[in-house]
Amino acid sequence: MKNFIITEGIESTWHYHISFEDKPHVSLCGRKTMRTNLPMKSWGIVNEHIKERYCRECKKLMNVQKDTISET
Ligand SMILES: [Zn+2]
Repeated sequence: MKNFIITEGIESTWHYHISFEDKPHVSLCGRKTMRTNLPMKSWGIVNEHIKERYCRECKKLMNVQKDTISET
C-alpha cells in the first residue's frame, strides 16, 4: 500500500497538496510540489494567521486511490 504525504505547491505558499511518498515533487492533481513535515492528520487544519489552503482535488484523488489500491 502506498503512503500519502502532504506536500506544498511550489507556485503558491501555504497551498497544500497530497503526493505519494515516493513522488514528493508532483501532487496527485499534477502540480509541482515539495516535501513538508506535516503529518497527514493535520490535513485541513487552518491557522487563522497563515490561512493555509488545502487542495480539494488532491483529497478527492486520494480517496479514489484508497478505494482502488488493494491492501495486500
Ligand atoms: Zn492538488
